[in-house]
Amino acid sequence: MTTVPTFLNYIDGEWCASRSGATFENVNPADTRDVVGQFQSSGEADAQAAVRAAAAAFASWKRLSTGARAKMLLSASAYLEQHAARFGEELTREEGKQKSLAIDEFMRAAQTIRYYAIEAQSYGGETFPNDDADMTVYTVREPLGVVTVISPWNFPVSIPARKIAPALICGNTVVFKPASDAPLSGLRLTEAFVQAGIPKGVLNFVTGSASAVGPVLVGAREVKAISFTGSTSAGEQIHRAASMSTRTQMELGGKNPLIVLDAQDIDRAVDLTVKGGFSLSGQACTGTSRVLVAREIRAAFVERLVTRTAALKIGNGLQPGIDIGPLATAGQLRTVLDYIEIGKREATLVCGGEQLMHDTYAHGYFVAPAIFTDVPRDARIAREEIFGPVISVIDVDGYDDALAVANDSDYGLAASLVTQDVRLMHRFANDIEAGTVKINRTTTGNLVNAPFGGLKQSSTATFRESGRDGLEFYQQIKTVYRGV
Ligand code: NAP
Repeated sequence: MTTVPTFLNYIDGEWCASRSGATFENVNPADTRDVVGQFQSSGEADAQAAVRAAAAAFASWKRLSTGARAKMLLSASAYLEQHAARFGEELTREEGKQKSLAIDEFMRAAQTIRYYAIEAQSYGGETFPNDDADMTVYTVREPLGVVTVISPWNFPVSIPARKIAPALICGNTVVFKPASDAPLSGLRLTEAFVQAGIPKGVLNFVTGSASAVGPVLVGAREVKAISFTGSTSAGEQIHRAASMSTRTQMELGGKNPLIVLDAQDIDRAVDLTVKGGFSLSGQACTGTSRVLVAREIRAAFVERLVTRTAALKIGNGLQPGIDIGPLATAGQLRTVLDYIEIGKREATLVCGGEQLMHDTYAHGYFVAPAIFTDVPRDARIAREEIFGPVISVIDVDGYDDALAVANDSDYGLAASLVTQDVRLMHRFANDIEAGTVKINRTTTGNLVNAPFGGLKQSSTATFRESGRDGLEFYQQIKTVYRGV
């Protein structure tokens, strides 16, 4: 019998158990008999200790040069790359995505950290011409202080990496709370910084339920900024609970459309729909969940989409050749199956939608990817984020109609148009209400060196993540008037 490892918090430079000694278990969603580990069920006192440690470490971390901080980031990045194969396998076991994608995610986290280590070194203030020959006016960029980072389970290493790396390189200290459904990858990220020699208190890692640690991590007086990625409902709660002087950055849900209007684009659109809608079992914030198809080509599009979808190999992401892994949690499974039942009442299910429970699926959370047609525009499956392998095909009459349907959403995260028409490409980039606009590409995916975020209820209308914009959130500007 294999023993289940116990993983600790990292607070004030020490790996430590929660004050209460309580732990929780995390299981493999492809086979729930496989227990990935025991994690600390932290409470208020643990969260307070982490915030206090981060506050105490701030003054000296802030004083360290950007170059010295960058050296540690580069070492952390190299560590993640070096161990990506092992850590990727753990990620697959804790969250379900295919092993190749999990390894890629660790490589991307490493790339993000490296990017910020280098980019921040040429990101300074400005000087301003003025009428006083004896005065220099310039801005300096300063860190904010203690930053809380709260991340979701669907990208449990690349998302916190794109928050923690810019926070640290700018001179902030961090308390990091990973999602309870995938804490191990966050722990590996923390471990990378620890082995890089990050001073005690600068980065703290606390596992535990949102209700137990959330109020302190959001409300503590010392917390100057909160960077959160997760559901729109939790993001709204946190944003409201934060004090007026706490900066917030909320990356939230989506209901992302892909539009196809011409027969010549059907094959490409099918390919982009399958990749953008079903990889990661539809559990990507930018995943394609609505396909807006010109009425006259809908039958041909659906026929090819169903053929491609039915051929996808579903299974344990540790096995080679798997296209789709399980849903990440029992809760996710319930939600997705509930939406499929709702969809059956609202529209026509033309493919998949059943829970797979035979043979190797018996102990996992597997659902065959579902495609609905005849979906009314006001159907719940057309409007609400499902966050699973469920696609609604909606009929439209030309570009203007497609655009109106695409924009008639509370969300505005990502959108894609498949077309050869350069005029439409241009119009779409201008007209679509989405923070990420794709043309002839999947709705999913973004660069580490370009800004990322949503419009409407997909983000707070504050700061973008990723790229140079990602540094803005973690700094405040002072304007200095220096006369002689
Ligand atoms: P979630 O339930 O909102 O949880 C996200 C994180 O927030 C978890 O660590 C959770 O802790 C914590 N949390 C929840 N409520 C909190 C509160 N009141 N105070 C403090 N912490 C709180 O989201 P999820 O199910 O993990 O992720 C799926 C959602 O994330 C989807 O809606 C998806 O669209 C969105 N997402 C958005 C982006 C983006 O960049 N826009 C990227 C990826 C995912 P526990 O785990 O302990 O509950």
